[in-house]
Amino acid sequence: MKRLVVLGAGESGVGTAVLGKQKGYEVFVSDYGSIKQKYKDVLIHHEIEWEEGNHSEDLILSADLVMKSPGISDTVKIVKALRSKGVPVISEIEFAGKYTDAKIVGITGSNGKTTTTMLCYHILKQGGLNVGIAGNIGDSFAMSVARDSFDYYVLELSSFQLDGIELFRPQIGVITNITPDHLDRYDYKFENYVEAKFRIAMNQTEADFFIYDADDEVIEAYLSDNDIQSTLVPFSLKKELDYGVYYKNESITIKIDNSEHIMPTTNLALEGKHNIKNAMAASAVAQLFNIRNLTIRESLETFQGAEHRLERVLRINKVEYINDSKATNVNATYYALESMDTPTVWIVGGEDKGNDYSQLYPFINEKVKAIICLGVDNKKLFENFGKMVDIIVETQFMSEAVKIAYKIAEAGDSVLLSPACASFDLFENYEDRGRQFKEAVRKL
Ligand code: ADP
Repeated sequence: MKRLVVLGAGESGVGTAVLGKQKGYEVFVSDYGSIKQKYKDVLIHHEIEWEEGNHSEDLILSADLVMKSPGISDTVKIVKALRSKGVPVISEIEFAGKYTDAKIVGITGSNGKTTTTMLCYHILKQGGLNVGIAGNIGDSFAMSVARDSFDYYVLELSSFQLDGIELFRPQIGVITNITPDHLDRYDYKFENYVEAKFRIAMNQTEADFFIYDADDEVIEAYLSDNDIQSTLVPFSLKKELDYGVYYKNESITIKIDNSEHIMPTTNLALEGKHNIKNAMAASAVAQLFNIRNLTIRESLETFQGAEHRLERVLRINKVEYINDSKATNVNATYYALESMDTPTVWIVGGEDKGNDYSQLYPFINEKVKAIICLGVDNKKLFENFGKMVDIIVETQFMSEAVKIAYKIAEAGDSVLLSPACASFDLFENYEDRGRQFKEAVRKL
């Protein structure tokens, strides 16, 4: 019996353990931190051995195969020891991919993964396909492969999940965009992060498709220097394309398979230019799977969007409150501010990841009337924006931030939480930050 060791007992670790056990491996799960009770329950139920608070070298180095959870860095001691011993260390995506024949859509990018994944899933499901959604969203891919029997999968994939693939091959790969993020995990080299994203196309063949943002200079530069085997399907907000998907005259044109379909975007459920990009990417996938055009159009109009992404919370005294807590980098906030068509009170801040705020300046001048800094250290925000607005204040409490915003905002304005920063200085995660915002708004 082959021994599978799983490092990290979160969503992907526990999913891998269950699938591994089902496929006849002797499975051992090791987590250096503590394991959540709900995951312990699953492991116990499946009679899988585990440890927490430790990585027992003797129990781990005896593995034939190791699955490393995406949160664990390559520089961790036990991972180095495994590598120097020659034990293969793979990701959950690689492991689960071996056990399904489903057609796979893999979606990665710096921003827009979750939205595009959910949108894509929604269209394919409306189109009648037996499709599952997994990866960085909801259940792990491995757990779903163990439990379900889908013919298609739409997978949200982070660069960390792609780092650990060897043979994983999506029939359709999507990169929504590439802007600097997570550089701490890539030796602070942007090119390493770009390489990680492009691993999505690494095993693709001529029979496969690669969908990407043709307006993204980083992606275009990579494609002009590197060969990709699959058929390239670009999408663009700016250029009319001979092949691919583009936006013109408030419509999306899909030109794939020698056909041309035009869909108006005026009734799209999601707002903002970035969501037109996401809609183009998802429409390209749907068209490649021959989903009817009417279904694509209707699905784009009915899709409700994901929590914490430009989520409309409430209207109070003719002021709209919008939760974009998931905007944890400048690029995401760029699109949030771009999409605002009213004067805006902007709540921003948190853990700065080396942000360059200059691309936001035009929006500040044009539509931001006040800034509320919500972080432990707000110095950089004051330096950047202090002279650009009349009102800039700081607080360390969400309830206070919302109360101040309420006082400043007038009828016709919006209050936007779009932090451009990670949340960990004051909150558990971006969901916690978003929920606290919504709760504070509802209490006004
Ligand atoms: P991810 O899963 O890649 O983090 P999400 O769909 O959760 O992406 O969106 C994260 C943030 O980025 C949200 O604030 C959202 O409004 C914004 N966003 C969504 N799509 C895009 C895009 N194509 N380009 C830039 N920002 C985007």
